[in-house]
Amino acid sequence: MQRHEPEQRAPEPGERRARATDADLAEGVVGAEPPLEPRAPRRVARELSAAGLPSVLEAAHHAFGAMGVVRSVHALSVVNQKHGFDCPSCAWPDPDGERKRFEFCENGAKAVASEATLERATPAFFARYGVSELRLQSDHWLEQQGRITQPMLLERSRDHYQPISWDHAFELIASELHALGSPDEAVFYTSGRTSNEAAFLYGLFARQFGTNNLPDCSNMCHESSGVGLKAAIGVGKATITLEDFLHADSIFVIGQNPGSCHPRMLLELEKAAKNGCRIVSVNPLPETGLLRFKNPQRPLALLGTGTPIACLHLPVRVNGDVALLDAIMKRMLELDRESGGRVLAHDFIEQHTEGFAAFAANIEAHGWAQLIEESGVARELIEEAAAIASRSERMIVCWAMGITQHQNGVANVQSLVNFALLRGQIGRRGAGLCPVRGHSNVQGDRTMGIWERMSDEFLQALGQEFGFAPPSHHGQDTVGSILAMHDGRVKVFVGLGGNFLSATPDTRFTSEALQRCRLTVHVSTKLNRAHLITGERALILPCLGRTERDSQASGEQFVSVEDTMGVVHASRGVLEPASPDLRSEVAIVCGIAHAALAGRTRVDWLGLAADYDRIRQHIEHVVPGFYQYNRRVREPGGFYLPNAARHGVFETASRRARFSAVDLPRHELEDGKLLLTTLRSHDQFNTTIYGESDRYRGIRGGRRVIFLNPEDMLARELSDGQRVDITSHHGSERRLAERFVVVPYPIARGCAAAYFPEANVLVPIGSVARGSNQPASKSIPITLAPSA
Ligand code: SF4
Repeated sequence: MQRHEPEQRAPEPGERRARATDADLAEGVVGAEPPLEPRAPRRVARELSAAGLPSVLEAAHHAFGAMGVVRSVHALSVVNQKHGFDCPSCAWPDPDGERKRFEFCENGAKAVASEATLERATPAFFARYGVSELRLQSDHWLEQQGRITQPMLLERSRDHYQPISWDHAFELIASELHALGSPDEAVFYTSGRTSNEAAFLYGLFARQFGTNNLPDCSNMCHESSGVGLKAAIGVGKATITLEDFLHADSIFVIGQNPGSCHPRMLLELEKAAKNGCRIVSVNPLPETGLLRFKNPQRPLALLGTGTPIACLHLPVRVNGDVALLDAIMKRMLELDRESGGRVLAHDFIEQHTEGFAAFAANIEAHGWAQLIEESGVARELIEEAAAIASRSERMIVCWAMGITQHQNGVANVQSLVNFALLRGQIGRRGAGLCPVRGHSNVQGDRTMGIWERMSDEFLQALGQEFGFAPPSHHGQDTVGSILAMHDGRVKVFVGLGGNFLSATPDTRFTSEALQRCRLTVHVSTKLNRAHLITGERALILPCLGRTERDSQASGEQFVSVEDTMGVVHASRGVLEPASPDLRSEVAIVCGIAHAALAGRTRVDWLGLAADYDRIRQHIEHVVPGFYQYNRRVREPGGFYLPNAARHGVFETASRRARFSAVDLPRHELEDGKLLLTTLRSHDQFNTTIYGESDRYRGIRGGRRVIFLNPEDMLARELSDGQRVDITSHHGSERRLAERFVVVPYPIARGCAAAYFPEANVLVPIGSVARGSNQPASKSIPITLAPSA
C-alpha cells in the first residue's frame, strides 16, 4: 500500500500556524482545530438530484480504492443484511421483510470502505510521525492513514506514540484510576457505534467503579428530543416504524438533511411521494435530497431527472422553527373555527391530551406579523403547509439536529409534538413522530444504560443483577465533563469510540480541558484529532470494527444494535480483522474492568468477554423489553422494543400527551450579525471526513466555506470567493475562526452555514439547550470581517 505523504502546504499570506512552536503546543491551540487550507475550495455546479449515477460511482470509487474489488463485493454484499453486519454509519432502519441484494447507500459504502481499508497505521507509522507533525494534517489526511494495529502509548513529554502491550495498557489505566481521589474524577464517554453488549458492560464497569459519569454522543445530537418527547408523550424515541412511510399522506421533514445524513430514508420518501404523499421540507437551505432523488436500486431511474420528493419547501430562518410551527398551527386553529370544528381532532384532544387551552392561548397571543418576521417564511407558504397538515389523516414528522441543537431545542421538540397532537397524529398507522438518529447504535447505547441520569429503576435492577450498590447521584454529561476536566475535577478521560475533540463545541476550551487530564484513553479503529490533543499520558486501544469477525474463547461472536425505530438486531462481521492484535470493544471493556476492579467485583469479566450470550442474559434481566434476548436477537431482522406511544398509550404521569405553551425564541441580531448554523458536507459522516467535496452544495477541494444569502453578501460588501474571518458573540465573549471562503447560496436571509468541526470553535461551551444541556451548535450569532 502506498503511504499518503503529509500535505505539503505553502503558507499563504495571513496564515499564522504553518508550524507549531513549543509555546503553541503548550497552549494546546495548534492542531486542536482542523488546519487552514492551502488552497481555496472551488465552486462547481450543485447537483440538484440526490443519489443516481454519481452516487454509484462515488460508492464504487471509495470501496474499490480502499478495499479492492473482491473485498468490496464480499463486505458490501452483507452490509445491512439479516445475516450480515449493521452499517457502521447512521441509524436508519432496514426493511423488516425481504431485503434487496444491496441494502446500503453511498455513505454506507464510504463507512464500510473507511473501516475495511487495507491501509494500516502501524507502530512504524507512529515512529515516523510525531504528534506535533500529525496535528498539522487535515482530518481527511488523518482518516486516510488506515487502521491502527496495536495499542499505542504517548508518554509524558514525548512526541511519538509507542507500542504497549494490552496487559500493560490495562494496568496503566487501572493505576491511574486507583490514584484518583474519587471515582467521579473519571469520565467514560461512549460514541454511537458501540454495540449493545459493550455499552452495557461499560456502564456496569463505570458504576462498579463508582461513578455515573457516562457522557455520550447523544448528549450532543438528540438529548433535546429525549427530554422533550419523554415529558410530552412518555417515550423519548420515534413512535413510527419504517412501514408507516408507506401509509402516510403527509410527511414533514424539519431541520434534517436525509440526502447526506440518512440517505436510505430517500427510498421511503420516494415510495411515499409516488403514493401521493405530500412531503414538506423545512430548512434554511434547500437540501438536494429533498428536491429530487434518483433511486440507485432501479437502473432505469438513473436516467432522467429523478423523482420529485418535497412538494413544498419552507425556507425557515435558522431557529425560526417555533415561529413557523406556531404560524402553521395558528392557521389550523383558524381553519378549525371556520369549518365548525372539522380540522382539529377534538375527541382525541379531549380524551388523550392535556394543556390544550394554554397552548392555544399562547399561539393566539402571537400576531401574524411577528410570526412571519421571526420565521422568515411568507404567509402564502405557511398557509399551504397548514392546508396540507389540516387535510392529512396520517402525518409523520421527522427531524434531526436542525431542531435540537439550539438553546431552545427542547421547546422546538415540544412544538413538533403540539403540531402532531392537533390532529391526533400519534399512535396510528402511517402517523407519528420520528427523531432521526445520526449514529448507528446511539439509541441502543442509551437503552443499555449509557446516561449520566439513568432512572432509579434501572440502577436498582443493575445492582440486583450484579450484587452491588450503583452510585445514585447523577454524573456528568458531555458539556459537564468538559467543564469538569477544564477545572481539574476530572483527571481521567476514557472514550469508547468517537472523536471527542472534534464532536464537541468550543474546540479551544475542550482541547485545554483534555490536556489538563492525567490520562486520556481512546478505543478506536482509526487515527483522529482526539488522539493528538491529549492528557499528560494517552493511550490508543485499537478495536475490531463492525465489518470484522469477532472470535472469542467460546467461539465466533456477534453483537447487537438498535436502530432509530427501536428494532434490535444482530450484527456479524465477515472480514478478517485488520490486525491480530486488535480486540473487540467488549474484550477491551472487560480487560479494563478486570484490571481496575480487581478484588472489588464479583462480575466474571473475562468470562463475559468469552461468551456474549452471557452478557445478553444479564441484559435480559436488567433492561425492559429484552426478554428472551438470545433467542429473539437470532431471529432474522431481530425484534421491536416496546413503545407505548406507538400504540396511542402515553406513559406520562397523567397518562395523557401534553401540549406545551412554547415561548418564541428571540435573537437580537443587531450590528449586522447573522445566525450561523453548523452542518455536514456530503463527504462526511459525523466527524469522519471521507473527502473534501460536497457535490450537493457545489463545493470541491476544501471545507472552510461559509454559505451566505447573496443579499446578505451585498449588504456587507462581500464578494463570491472572498476570504472572511468569522467572530461569534456570546455575551461579551468572542471566538474567532479564520479564513473561510464566501459562497453565495440560497440560504434564508440573515443566516449563514459552515461545516463542523471547522466551525465548532465558534460554539461557546456555555451555549446549551435549556433542559437538555445539548450544545447549541445550530444558532450562533456571528459577524464577518474580510481576512487579512
Ligand atoms: S442510510 Fe445510513 S445505515 Fe443505511 S446504508 Fe446509508 S449510511 Fe448506512
